[in-house]
Amino acid sequence: MQTVTLLGSTGSIGVSTLNVLAQHPEDYRVYALTANRSVERLFEQCQQFKPEIAVMLNEEAAQQLADKLTAVNSTTQVLAGEQALVQVSESEHTDYVMAAIVGAAGLLPTLAAAKAGKHILLANKEALVMSGSLFMREVEKNGATLLPVDSEHNAIWQCLPVGKQQQHHFDGKGVRRIILTASGGPFRDYDIADLESVTPEQAVAHPNWSMGQKISVDSATMMNKGLEVIEAHWLFGLPSNQIDVLLHRQSIIHSMVDYVDGSVLAQMGNPDMRTPIANALAWPKRIDSGVEPLDLVAAGRLDFSAADFEHFPCLALAYQALNTGGTSTAILNAANEIAVEAFLNKHIKFTQIPTIIEDVLAKVPTREAVSLEVILEDDLLARHCARELIS
Ligand code: NAD
Ligand code: MG
Repeated sequence: MQTVTLLGSTGSIGVSTLNVLAQHPEDYRVYALTANRSVERLFEQCQQFKPEIAVMLNEEAAQQLADKLTAVNSTTQVLAGEQALVQVSESEHTDYVMAAIVGAAGLLPTLAAAKAGKHILLANKEALVMSGSLFMREVEKNGATLLPVDSEHNAIWQCLPVGKQQQHHFDGKGVRRIILTASGGPFRDYDIADLESVTPEQAVAHPNWSMGQKISVDSATMMNKGLEVIEAHWLFGLPSNQIDVLLHRQSIIHSMVDYVDGSVLAQMGNPDMRTPIANALAWPKRIDSGVEPLDLVAAGRLDFSAADFEHFPCLALAYQALNTGGTSTAILNAANEIAVEAFLNKHIKFTQIPTIIEDVLAKVPTREAVSLEVILEDDLLARHCARELIS
């Protein structure tokens, strides 16, 4: 029996993870569930999965949850605040930590899981984007097992030689490059001139995947793919010129590895996050995920086209930040979070997202990412700078 902590259990990835766990009650037990402020949803999850601990970031929400659980005689203990998120990640009572908090808020608890040598199911790509070098060092130093849940990285993981997936460098694997596929999001067929007037409602309506709001906007700008290029760089130890992006509108091939002998291995499946979640959870075994078998006859065709940097300037900015290195990717990530939030709140236009990020990258000086303090300082500077540009 393995025990699992779910960081961000009420979100899109959190709910899909609980769906997979519920199919295997003999093998997995939930140790802790955590959320930002969704009291009702976390309350329902506590009743179904009976975790030892439930954490809410927000104090008031934690008190409400505690009152509701007491009223039904639940034994789940309720904690509040960021330190409690760290506590349930590093606890000796948990084997697996699903890192599914959205954005920079996921960094500290995910890093705590790395330091405690856990099996980390990594959905929160922002942690690696912000602090890739430091994070990977902690993983290696403390013998943590990092299992990619992001569908593209999980696909690459599956296409790498067995036994070598955990080596975070590419020497001796015979790989020429990796190819991250991207659906192109809801605006892939729009003329560039029409992007100025698109709404948040249109941006979050992804054609193939059902996801949280922030990553849905990131998919529409393709910053999501940019963050994934950076994530792939750290996970697999490849330079940016060996990480390509390919538009593939059906989201059936989730990514590919191109080997020096001319073989290209692809991982395919229906676009349902329960597949990479089940794969990461059970690795190196395989378990049922509840996902429908892939019907290639119904799919009919697989289309590919080049990713256009003019149409998707955020993708170019992410490559630029990766090539600059240091805290540049943390600055990119922070500026993006502020810009996306402003767009969702209708304070800026969709097309201002990349211009704000570009301005922040030009204004906030990049430093060597020597420590967590430096990274968090530059993250904060970038947020201030982005807010000033917006107001
Ligand atoms: P979501 O918005 O649906 O859920 C986010 C979760 O994090 C919720 O449980 C929320 O309560 C919690 N949370 C939010 N802010 C918090 C804070 N400040 N402190 C503590 N908890 C907080 O997001 P999602 O779509 O599930 O995405 C989660 C992560 O997984 C993101 O990093 C995203 O990039 C990544 N990811 C998601 C998908 C997907 O299909 N949804 C695919 C690949 C990767
Ligand atoms: Mg992805």
